[in-house]
Amino acid sequence: MAYRVTLIPGDGTGPELTEATRRVLEATGVEFEWEVRHAGVDVMEEAGTPLPEETLASIKRNKVALKGPITTPIGIGFRSVNVALRHELGLYACLRPCKTYVGVRSRYENVDVVVVRENTEDLYAGIEYEAGTDDAHAVIEFLNTKQPKQIAPTSGISIKPISPEGTERIVRYAFEHARAAGRRQVACITKANIMKFTDGLFLSVFREVAADYPEIEPRETLVDALCMGLVQRPEEFDVLVLPNLYGDIISDLTAGLVGGLGVAPGANIGAESAVFEATHGSAPKYKGLNKVNPTAMILSGKLMLEHIGERDAAARLDTAVAAVIAEGQSVTYDLKARRDDPTAVGTAEYADAIIDKLT
Ligand code: NAD
Repeated sequence: MAYRVTLIPGDGTGPELTEATRRVLEATGVEFEWEVRHAGVDVMEEAGTPLPEETLASIKRNKVALKGPITTPIGIGFRSVNVALRHELGLYACLRPCKTYVGVRSRYENVDVVVVRENTEDLYAGIEYEAGTDDAHAVIEFLNTKQPKQIAPTSGISIKPISPEGTERIVRYAFEHARAAGRRQVACITKANIMKFTDGLFLSVFREVAADYPEIEPRETLVDALCMGLVQRPEEFDVLVLPNLYGDIISDLTAGLVGGLGVAPGANIGAESAVFEATHGSAPKYKGLNKVNPTAMILSGKLMLEHIGERDAAARLDTAVAAVIAEGQSVTYDLKARRDDPTAVGTAEYADAIIDKLT
């Protein structure tokens, strides 16, 4: 039976990347019924919103979406579609695997790290008070009655809420992911030695949840030590689970370890629905040029295959991508030793090379 999946082409280079990915996914032999729905700047005028209700309804119905990148224009009151999707669908987990593919230029070898980032709480919860406002003054006055340490009245304030419920679901997701993928270790990344009531809470919930997964080694690492460890010995790390802010920063660091945005896939996962998309943006300057690298998008499709239980197809797809990159012939410009190499192929031809390996 075919899997019904919502396909959102996105804008900028999104349509080219999703089309390449759709063809590669179909070449694995897994059958899909794509429900194409739109979002982003290109539908804004016609639909009056960058995220039409029917697009949201389609994801809720199908529970799985493959999404191309979407441009967020600056300064015209356009709410980020990505943020809106996360909020509307309760996508609490951000999954970012970063793995070395031989042939991708990088300073490191043998990196295979999965970042599991909490998506809803922490300093990114969006609770902030601008310096000098009445609200900021009121919050500061209240807090200054609560402890001897005084906050300067001119301060801006950002709130860092971390709940046991929010922590349990992200930590459990990290362990479930590790178990399903046969991973050996989950590391909890915090600054629990300093922020005892937020990061400390995150760590104590981690310890409780870890006890339910005796076959997986729990590890506790401070985020500053993690940064040094990742650049010195990245092969020592496996699955990382982090609160929102550290997760945002560390997932870019790990993408850098394996060659950058062009090869960094991602997924945002909730209790009901999951949206699979590359880490990079819409690279609008390359729109319509059949030039950019679809690897990150294709590997996001691989994550989608794993999510729906098609692990064998996912493994075959991974092998095919790895082989094409390692051969270094039919690859996009950014995967060549020199970016002006005339033998570089386009987005579609790179996808064709992967399809050849699969069929
Ligand atoms: P970007 O990721 O689009 O581009 C950054 C750089 O990386 C550019 O030089 C670009 O040419 C290059 N690049 C990106 N993807 C590539 C690929 N697949 N192959 C080869 N090179 C690639 O980041 P940006 O320019 O900061 O953002 C452009 C737009 O995308 C913005 O409006 C931003 O808000 C949006 N964005 C969307 C998402 C999403 O939809 N998930 C994520 C990030 C940014």
